[in-house]
Amino acid sequence: MSKRLGFRIAGMVMAGLLVSGAAQAKDVHSWGYEGENGPAKWGTLSPEFRMCADGRNQSPIDLGRGVVVAQSGLAMPRSDYGKARATAVVNNGHTIKVEVAKGGTLTIGEHAYNLLQFHMHAPSENTVEGKHFPMEIHFVHADDAGNLAVVGVMVKEGAENPVFRKVWEKMPAQKGKADLALLGEEIASLITDAKAFYRFNGSLTTPPCSEGVVWIVLKKPLELSAGQIEKFRKTMGFANNRPTQPLNARVVVSP
Ligand SMILES: [Zn+2]
Repeated sequence: MSKRLGFRIAGMVMAGLLVSGAAQAKDVHSWGYEGENGPAKWGTLSPEFRMCADGRNQSPIDLGRGVVVAQSGLAMPRSDYGKARATAVVNNGHTIKVEVAKGGTLTIGEHAYNLLQFHMHAPSENTVEGKHFPMEIHFVHADDAGNLAVVGVMVKEGAENPVFRKVWEKMPAQKGKADLALLGEEIASLITDAKAFYRFNGSLTTPPCSEGVVWIVLKKPLELSAGQIEKFRKTMGFANNRPTQPLNARVVVSP
């Protein structure tokens, strides 16, 4: 590619970013994690976000000792990410999201879902006995009818993670998107132990807070180094976790 063409393309990309930035600024539905458009206000920002205030099966929740019910014969979630490929890493101003091309599946019993993306929250959104982990990764899956299943993997401080080293190298410091190549086996390495988990019904943890989401939170945390956790926090610049929501009539089951 000639230098001149390179500059022209860079200019077009910049213009595209500015246009989408301006569109964002005019968006009356813009939401965030702090102040006037923070989690307590989400339900009032738009009629489309009403579930954030009115829903009765909202996420995240506290996985307290008193709410978890042991259940034998529970369908084991099976993730098969071998044919998945990560293609891009996006900073959307709310989180860092890794986009995944079709090929990875999650099966719960007979029900199959496709892996779409994974993204991060710091601190964790779901809590265990009232305690946050420093981070939580959400693997988002959808079936052919659009029903969602999310696998949550908690992060604790420990060894540096080689997959996140690659993701953080490419993650845009500001809103934007960058190419990222991860193999299916690298994505699969982030699933710690799918045999020990909490399962419950919940919602998206961001507007529009839609319900009907199957949640699986793995009990075994993944290790990231202190520096890797800090890099995510610094890049976001704020805590991107929604506070825990009332359990209401739900039960949390665990094998
Ligand atoms: Zn999430």
